[in-house]
Amino acid sequence: MSLSNYHKLLAKQASRLLPEELAGHPALLKFLALVSNTYQSFERDKKISEHAFSVSEKEYQEVTLHLQQQIQIRHQSILKLKKVIRSLDRNDQEPPDIEFPCKDPDEDLIGVISFLEEQIRKTKTLETELILAKEAAEKAARAKSDFLSVMSHEIRTPLNAITGLSHLLMEEEHYPHQTENMTALRLSADNLLHLINDILDFGKIEEGKIVFSEKDMDLRRLVTNIKMANRIHADERGNKIELILDNELPPFVRGDDMRLGQVLNNLISNAVKFTQNGQITVEVLLNKVNESTVTIDFSVTDTGIGIEKGKQELIFERFAQANSEITREFGGSGLGLSIVKRLLNLQNSDIYVDSEAGSGSRFFFSLNFKKTALCRQEHSLPLFGERADLKGLKILLVEDVEFNVLVAEKMLSKWNARVATASNGLKALGKLKEDNFDIVLMDLQMPVMDGYTATTHIREFDKTTPIIALTASTSMEIQQKAFDCGMTDYLSKPFNPNDLLNTILKYAR
Ligand code: ADP
Repeated sequence: MSLSNYHKLLAKQASRLLPEELAGHPALLKFLALVSNTYQSFERDKKISEHAFSVSEKEYQEVTLHLQQQIQIRHQSILKLKKVIRSLDRNDQEPPDIEFPCKDPDEDLIGVISFLEEQIRKTKTLETELILAKEAAEKAARAKSDFLSVMSHEIRTPLNAITGLSHLLMEEEHYPHQTENMTALRLSADNLLHLINDILDFGKIEEGKIVFSEKDMDLRRLVTNIKMANRIHADERGNKIELILDNELPPFVRGDDMRLGQVLNNLISNAVKFTQNGQITVEVLLNKVNESTVTIDFSVTDTGIGIEKGKQELIFERFAQANSEITREFGGSGLGLSIVKRLLNLQNSDIYVDSEAGSGSRFFFSLNFKKTALCRQEHSLPLFGERADLKGLKILLVEDVEFNVLVAEKMLSKWNARVATASNGLKALGKLKEDNFDIVLMDLQMPVMDGYTATTHIREFDKTTPIIALTASTSMEIQQKAFDCGMTDYLSKPFNPNDLLNTILKYAR
């Protein structure tokens, strides 16, 4: 083998140091070839390891950079997390200084996690407490409503006798010096009745239990009847009530006549109450007619004491009154206008007032009604006073409380109706099987057989005779139950004589 075939370094050293005579020695040549191979493989390994080293150095730098970036992101994330937690825990504007358990940045994440765990635990406890508090509040609200309905029932029953008898006493012959006491008795009874009805109504509105009915109603008659119902009180206070009804008003519209009546009655009776020797004007004007609805503007204007500007918003709040002295004189709960407002709000409307202290007030609102094709007069409510006479009408009065029987019987007899009585549902069934009646006035709660059961039995053999429920309860469930078992209408006790008359006239054949 020539020297040039050996590794460069070995070839150089061999040519310099190897004596000429040994150059051809086979054993030596073999040895040199072996050494040359070792040199070359060393060289190769060196190159490989150098390459490997340079590659891992690069990777190492890349990984380190990546790690640094990750650490930075982690630190920033933890900072953001802490900021978010602080802002989450903030009750008002000032962020509180939340102490995280770990100060060491490396343990920050663990700190944040344990802080979050603690927060979750606290939230769960709070949630449980809230559920318990909500249940307690619901229970209290139910107790309040139960109390109201039981108490109202208990109060209404004797009040029925007081209001009814005081109205009758006024109309019967009496000595002149008794008139003042009787007027006071009648007014107090009416005020008390008004108050109880307002409180119950307010309770119902608060509980969201008001449902608006949809009936064909004759607006002219409704408003005229309300005017007439307020006439006696207006006369007593030297007031005149004028009614302005738009000629363009449709004969009938569809809506809740009872609730509209309640709103107008409240406004008119307030106008009468806060005016003396003055004028009250009730206006009902057609505003616009659409394809399926009619908008009607109502206003009640008086020339009474008026309301200071500063108090005009307040009077629509519950139990709010502009002038407590006046209230002491005339009574009132301060609930009337808040009920009016809520009843209108529930029908997408609102009530407004225009008034100046000393020169009267004008309350006004607009209401949408559905159109109806009905225009026959016979569906119309009889005009108040038009037939304060029930001559020839046979009425069966089913009632167990003696006082109630006495009052209703007296009223009905005064209007010339022929009255038969039954003290429970079973007796009523017997009478109805023997005889025909034009109308049945049916109490609901009675011994032996209640009004619901009696009505269910009556409807098995008589589907048409109007049965009007009389009850001291105003709960909607009870009303519904009465209709479900076949009753025709509903009158809550104590009723004003006018309500009784109007309801009977509605069904008189
Ligand atoms: P109440 O009449 O039972 O006190 P309302 O809610 O009906 O309750 O009325 C609240 C208050 O608004 C009245 O107490 C009175 O101060 C004032 N008010 C209402 N209507 C009139 C009116 N027509 N003229 C003067 N003040 C009125």
